[in-house]
Amino acid sequence: MLDFTCPSCNHCESLDIPALVNVRTNPELKESIMDGSFFLHECPACGASVLLKFPFSYVDPDKRFLVRLSGEETRLSLDDDFVGRRVVEVGDLLEKVRILDAELDDIAVELVKYVTSNDMNIHTRLWFSKQDPVDGNLTFAYAADGELKALSVGAGVYENCCGIVARTPEFKEKSTGLALVDDRWIDSFMR
Ligand SMILES: [Zn+2]
Repeated sequence: MLDFTCPSCNHCESLDIPALVNVRTNPELKESIMDGSFFLHECPACGASVLLKFPFSYVDPDKRFLVRLSGEETRLSLDDDFVGRRVVEVGDLLEKVRILDAELDDIAVELVKYVTSNDMNIHTRLWFSKQDPVDGNLTFAYAADGELKALSVGAGVYENCCGIVARTPEFKEKSTGLALVDDRWIDSFMR
């Protein structure tokens, strides 16, 4: 149970929201998680739509990954073929799940963002949107001039980044357990 206090009217109630969703056993929840509505609660007293923040885990035993949304560092030992990640915000969780659900290497995707941001002189965060099923190109979104823009990156750039990850064992060594793999994590390797 999750204790909810409405930030607009102070209405209190207990919400029955699962702290862990396994999408093999509960595939019906995947859509609401991915569109973010799972994390929104409409206050029954005043109608405000509130983004809930609580420790939450998304597990896909078939695609072999777990993403944990938590403000605190957690340790977890996982099987070698299981990718475990920690994220801090709901938006980060959705992006991470999109990457791993597309069966992409998230370290390589962060590298793609790093090199693309430098090449294109983009000083804001890139968000992974999707991979084209035909040509394998990756689409990212970013905010510029007050609007959301889309950026397509060739599949070859991703392949090159996968090569760098494969040749740099440190990446995998430092991403065991529930690592927080994001832009700052990649930056720490590039200094
Ligand atoms: Zn309210």
